Amino acid sequence: MVYNSNMRIISGLMLCLGVLSASLACAAELRAPETVLQGDPLLISISADMPIARMTFDTAAIPTFHYKNEVRALVGIDLAKPPGKYVFRVDFTNGEKLERTITVLAREKSEAPLGIPEKLGGNTTSSQTALVSTLAKENAVLAGLRTGAKTFWTEPFRLPLRTEIVITDPYGYSRKTGAYTIAHKGTDFRAAEGTRVRAMNRGVVRLAKTFRNYGMTIVVDHGLGVQTFYMHLSKINVVEGQLVIPGQILGLSGQTGYAESPHLHLTVRLNGTSVDPMKFLALWETAP
Ligand SMILES: [Zn+2]
Repeated sequence: MVYNSNMRIISGLMLCLGVLSASLACAAELRAPETVLQGDPLLISISADMPIARMTFDTAAIPTFHYKNEVRALVGIDLAKPPGKYVFRVDFTNGEKLERTITVLAREKSEAPLGIPEKLGGNTTSSQTALVSTLAKENAVLAGLRTGAKTFWTEPFRLPLRTEIVITDPYGYSRKTGAYTIAHKGTDFRAAEGTRVRAMNRGVVRLAKTFRNYGMTIVVDHGLGVQTFYMHLSKINVVEGQLVIPGQILGLSGQTGYAESPHLHLTVRLNGTSVDPMKFLALWETAP
């Protein structure tokens, strides 16, 4: 996958004084991409020999975790975040700070018309209104799911399908239905009805239910704001509250809800922001 071609990694090195009475030289290094696209996830690494008090990106507090012996942070750039320069900042407990400017570039957005399936009322104005209002309710349920205070995973995230990967509808592709534009904030994979759908990593099932539009849906919480959503399934094999291991079969793919053909819709959320799932997967292939 060549998803990182536009991401140059920048490093920062900072000298500081120790907190002990004797002056001690110490260093902190921060690795982060210099530029990202709207909808991209960022994996930031920090090596420092002093404790971190706080990290922020554009004023929002960012949780940290350990992965492969380094302090890391995941940041999700919203698809609608205005392009421009934003500051990622680390405050250390001794009062020192480290800052990096990250430039968010506009993602090329394509738009296409999308019909409403006959099972949801067809292409009428009333079914368009019904779709948008019921989607808002479903989105509110999905936005209110809790997340664990710690990461539940230690391994890289992996694709939810073991079959040949064909993307039928990428992240960020908008569909226009009547007067409404619905941004596609996930990735659709071709998946014959009944294809096994697997947990992308270790986590806790926070939701397993059937929605009007999203169809049979499972949400796995991987902790610290990282959640994966599997939609339009034909069968659910897990229950809410269940701990799942990486690769565990969650259910079977299908075309329930707002789907005109069998496929798997995958959403990846970082602290409530839906990011490009393929870019998210690429982070774990390249994480040193
Ligand atoms: Zn989709």
